[in-house]
Amino acid sequence: MRTKVFIHTNESKTSNAVKTRLVAMLEKANFLVTDKFDKSINLLVCVGGDGTFLQAAHEYNFPDVPFIGINTGHLGFFQEIMPNQLDEFIYHYNTNKYRIQKITTVQAEIKTKEATHRLVGINEIQIKGPSTSSTHLNISISGSFIERFSGDGILVSTPSGSTAYNYSLGGCIVDPRINLLQVTPIAPINTTAYRCFTSSIVMPAELTLQVELDDYTKDTSLTLIYDGMPIVYDNIESVNFTMAKETINLLRFDSYDFWAKVKSKFI
Ligand code: NAD
Repeated sequence: MRTKVFIHTNESKTSNAVKTRLVAMLEKANFLVTDKFDKSINLLVCVGGDGTFLQAAHEYNFPDVPFIGINTGHLGFFQEIMPNQLDEFIYHYNTNKYRIQKITTVQAEIKTKEATHRLVGINEIQIKGPSTSSTHLNISISGSFIERFSGDGILVSTPSGSTAYNYSLGGCIVDPRINLLQVTPIAPINTTAYRCFTSSIVMPAELTLQVELDDYTKDTSLTLIYDGMPIVYDNIESVNFTMAKETINLLRFDSYDFWAKVKSKFI
């Protein structure tokens, strides 16, 4: 059976040129390239940067099909190969010299007076106040009260999102083979007026992070930002963060090593 491939690209000229080259090479190697994303495809190729990968995973609703990323962006943390490695990619795929890295995700269940909403994040979900004023949140982990947070907000990162915004906020880098969620404060206030943790909290994947508005907060709106995309919710009652059931199957060559990638991209 021929391998059916769907190629997602961002709008850039470079990505489109890589796509054109890849289509010709795949067809020569007897792959079937389709313009339509559906359940019958065997491989999803994503040409762009990390943002393109995140966008594709959301747009196609976390499909089971393996993803492989070709990096035409800047960092390319999720992207496995460079545009000059297309031959190698086809050879490795055809000779089964690859494995699947499961990317886990985080979900936020947002209860408002009117309804319950759900968001899924691949890198992270942030919760922030509706304005530039500091926000005050009561935070518990699976029923155990932890702190009254004061500051800009908090970010709940997945292991693979730990190298993204979480890292810029001073959170730690997590090997994606570990199943956990990392809760990182965004500009926490730590004075005699307000006291809260200034470091990240790491919690096991099976626990729930519960967030409620402080009793004195008059504005009951909050902004939830999943993988950089913001949504404002009004009349918030609570927000619960847990690991989500959605996963992404990233195709990695046998030579892939998480820590080698960290070193090559960050140091
Ligand atoms: P973007 O263009 O703002 O990306 C910012 C940078 O984050 C890019 O260089 C991207 O390659 C990198 N990045 C994304 N995911 C990564 C990961 N898992 N590990 C290492 N680097 C990663 O927006 P985008 O490309 O659409 O990506 C969205 C992500 O950008 C968000 O999920 C958030 O984590 C990150 N972000 C980071 C900062 C910051 O570090 N100050 C600010 C805003 C957003």
